[in-house]
Amino acid sequence: MRFSAFKIFKEGLTGNKGWTPHWREPEPKPSYDVIVVGGGGHGLATAYYLAKEFGVTNVAVLEKGWLGSGNIGRNTTIIRSNYMLPENNPFYEMAMKLWENLEQDTNYNSMFSQRGILNLCHSDPQRDAMARRGNAMILSGADAELLNREQVRELCPFLSFDNERFPITGGLLQRRGGTARHDAVAWGYARGADMRGVDIIQNCEVTGFHIENGVCTGVDTTKGPIKANKVGVCVAGSSSRVMAKAGLRLPIESHVLQAFVSEGLKPTIPGVVTFGAGHLYISQSDKGGLVFGGDIDKYNTYAQRGNLPVIEHIAEDMRAMIPALGRVRLLRGWGGVMDMSMDGTPFIDKTHIGGLYFNGGWCYGGFKATPSSGWCYAHLLAKDESHELAKGFRLDRFIGGNMVDEKGQGPQPNLH
Ligand SMILES: Cc1cc2nc3c(=O)[nH]c(=O)nc-3n(C[C@H](O)[C@H](O)[C@H](O)COP(=O)(O)OP(=O)(O)OC[C@H]3O[C@@H](n4cnc5c(N)ncnc54)[C@H](O)[C@@H]3O)c2cc1C
Repeated sequence: MRFSAFKIFKEGLTGNKGWTPHWREPEPKPSYDVIVVGGGGHGLATAYYLAKEFGVTNVAVLEKGWLGSGNIGRNTTIIRSNYMLPENNPFYEMAMKLWENLEQDTNYNSMFSQRGILNLCHSDPQRDAMARRGNAMILSGADAELLNREQVRELCPFLSFDNERFPITGGLLQRRGGTARHDAVAWGYARGADMRGVDIIQNCEVTGFHIENGVCTGVDTTKGPIKANKVGVCVAGSSSRVMAKAGLRLPIESHVLQAFVSEGLKPTIPGVVTFGAGHLYISQSDKGGLVFGGDIDKYNTYAQRGNLPVIEHIAEDMRAMIPALGRVRLLRGWGGVMDMSMDGTPFIDKTHIGGLYFNGGWCYGGFKATPSSGWCYAHLLAKDESHELAKGFRLDRFIGGNMVDEKGQGPQPNLH
């Protein structure tokens, strides 16, 4: 089934009886060429590109819950490619270009909206750092504009420009940044993969790996054992727990990150705005709710819920940045388990076990990376060699001290 204006028109006139399920509900086959463990955004994008770009269609995606139950359905949906380091920027710019064509590519409305992302700065040194980042972005093909205080005011007049402690001195704007509807991204990839023959198997938890003579030959699941030539793990916040089943210890800690939505308001915030004197990012959904988040909760956990001190901290930042929001009511909040790598940069790599591959460590930033992560992981799984743009995301980078410490804030997750 393809979506088109004609199809919507026809269904509207004929009682909407012609829509079919977006994907099948198959039982697992005894064996596959590739098993992707984890049906989040990255796992589904990997399966989609494996089938579409690399012609590998004998693939299963095994998901322990339902599609969208993990971080793909819990994030604040911010998309940007405003990274500075040469290992990161081209990779996230690749993602941006894929985002720009994703809806046409998957024939699915993921509500990708390039409303721009504005990072505020509050001091001269911070503006200098932003100028440096903006220049690095431009040099690697991304767009960036350094705004002065008046230009920021034109864009967002509702900000508190003269806060005594955090006066706004300017901002870095990436106009191509924005948001997308997160779960529609998962559904679009799932539908596209399913159409090309990939089996998407929900409620199927991987409970162990078959490892014989240093080679992974399949997995144990709650639906029985399944053989595979290659197994690609892609389970975000569960990375340490799942890879421990194969005997691997990862440079990853699991932390909870919360997000919130306010009651619906009339159009207030044009794009994504981030506070530069704390940790707060905010945008407005198409329904009118303000979507916002801040720091991780700073304790290790696998619980998908957080605690009050971070909520208080985020509310304080919001009052400092946009005092007018002081009386807006919070509608709901939730948490997701984050796979925080020790340098803030992800992994897309083989492991020392033959046939076993790993993708994870996405920290705060995996949603925006979904298309390029899926593409590069599919490249690795199909060709057994890293994609050019993912060569920096190696598991052994800590052995040689070659960290990719994007924010330059030290290797502890609580500083990212
Ligand atoms: C509150 C919050 C806000 C965020 N905001 C942003 C943002 O604005 N921008 C951005 O770029 N990123 C953001 N992120 C990060 C982003 O959501 C994640 O980095 C990204 O979604 C992780 O990849 P994924 O989609 O594949 O993960 P997930 O959707 O978590 O997928 C992993 C899947 O693996 C499954 N799984 C786990 N164990 C097993 C097993 N044993 N067997 C089978 N399946 C298993 C899980 O059920 C899950 O569905 C945010 C995250 C959170 C929590």
